Amino acid sequence: MVRDSVVRIGLVLPDVLGTYGDSGNATVLRKRLEWRGYRAEVVDLAVGEPVPSSLDFYLLGGGEDRAQTLAVSHLTANPGMQAAAGRGAVVLAICAGLQILGHDFTGTDGVTYSGLGLLDVRTTPGTGARAVGELLTTPDPALLATSMTGFENHQGHTQLGPNARPLSKVVYGTGNGDGADGAYAGHVVGTYMHGPVLARNPEFADLLLGWAIGAPLAPLEIPVIEQLREERRRAVQAMANRRKRLL
Ligand code: GLN
Repeated sequence: MVRDSVVRIGLVLPDVLGTYGDSGNATVLRKRLEWRGYRAEVVDLAVGEPVPSSLDFYLLGGGEDRAQTLAVSHLTANPGMQAAAGRGAVVLAICAGLQILGHDFTGTDGVTYSGLGLLDVRTTPGTGARAVGELLTTPDPALLATSMTGFENHQGHTQLGPNARPLSKVVYGTGNGDGADGAYAGHVVGTYMHGPVLARNPEFADLLLGWAIGAPLAPLEIPVIEQLREERRRAVQAMANRRKRLL
């Protein structure tokens, strides 16, 4: 992609998948592109409106159970994002978003809903307490060399099939409930990390932007990034210490 063209980022149904502040991921992507001299546009895709297939990047946030079923029925009836993913557009989905991308998910009401089938995963309610708190992981080294942090708040547990790879290994927290967090296949990625995850993990943001642009991005050296890195280093250290005390 040349710098003059506009990178178009779709914020998928922020009116229902916006409970946990994940819309901030769109701002992070736009700013990181602009800081590098690219032009970027964030497009809000609202419930009731068609979903275009022409965008470069699609972001799905988390949401409560009712909002999640509303979102999946809208996206099933308006399959623009699925078409875009089929040609390699980047999709990042958080928590309820991740669950929606799978084959199906069962809510706490015991009802199983069909998902969009973009990731080989299935979600069922976990048997234990709701997973609420900090999540610290080590990503698949094929993707990232730095650890990732976020916070989680969910009841669902997600099992991966053979066509999805775990995004990362859990060091602290719950994630999918199987020792891993998230899943990815091609340019479709899901995680349980709120934060927003791309503000907490700038290297992850750049990895996905590199996919959208078609070339890896060089690191940004600006003070705010150093501040974020420092905050994350401190958070990681605090979690590691807390874990040691608990063991
Ligand atoms: N409703 C889903 C669950 O509890 C997702 C919650 C969320 O997006 N944080 O598993």
